Amino acid sequence: MKPFLLVLSAPSGGGKTTIAKMLLQGRDDLGYSVSATTRPKRPGERDGVDYHFLSRDQFISRQESGEFLEWATYGGELYGTLKSEIDRIFSEGRHAVLDVEIEGARQIRANFPNALLLFVLPPSASALVERLVGRKTEDPQLVRERIVRAADELAAVSEYDYAILNEDLVVAVSQVAAILEAESWRVSRQDTLPEFIEQLRRDVVKAAERIGSKSSVISRRSSERSKESRSSEFTDD
Ligand code: ADP
Ligand code: 5GP
Repeated sequence: MKPFLLVLSAPSGGGKTTIAKMLLQGRDDLGYSVSATTRPKRPGERDGVDYHFLSRDQFISRQESGEFLEWATYGGELYGTLKSEIDRIFSEGRHAVLDVEIEGARQIRANFPNALLLFVLPPSASALVERLVGRKTEDPQLVRERIVRAADELAAVSEYDYAILNEDLVVAVSQVAAILEAESWRVSRQDTLPEFIEQLRRDVVKAAERIGSKSSVISRRSSERSKESRSSEFTDD
């Protein structure tokens, strides 16, 4: 199958990063696209693993030299997908999983019609707030800004291909896996299909010819047999 981009979006705290990481465990057909950002590193985050942490100048200069597939501003910080990440993942024959907010998803939709866009919904506003606060990564002012932004982000769900509900994490991950499985059978994603169909058609035509020639031999024989039996009827008379 042709490698493609799997874009996961959700309001902050919706669970997309958790789902992406769980989904990738034990699967060698997917690669995680490590984004670049100017936001400060959270405790436990590792440079090059969770994000490529860049200064604003570094980000802008890489953006100006065309290194980003897409980029956007979120909460006053810059975030973007490096083309080199996608090249690396595609060259390994894997699909690239991207954790991207809605502006970036729109850029991807416009430039990569083959991309699969999936929106992760929280089960309720209270669950969203609880998860975001419980993550303890943003101070209350930033939590508030992120929740305010969530209302706009939710309005963009109709631009996505799929929306899944992240109530139970295990169920949500298996839903994403089921979507990927179904997408792998989409005709446009099966790059070896045209070749297979061409060969199958040639073989079907040959099979039809063989049946045709066999049936004409059979029908010739049976008509000869019936002629013989008719003439023997006459001689018996
Ligand atoms: P996002 O990447 O969308 O901002 P995270 O993946 O960081 O969200 O999830 C936010 C918090 O919610 C994390 O602490 C995560 O462990 C928790 N979480 C995610 N999904 C669920 C779930 N289904 N049930 C309970 N907690 C969840
Ligand atoms: P966070 O600071 O919580 O890690 O991420 C904030 C927002 O930035 C999330 O909505 C996340 O999806 C988004 N984001 C992370 N990486 C990228 C990226 O490469 N491009 C874009 N456009 N958004 C990103």
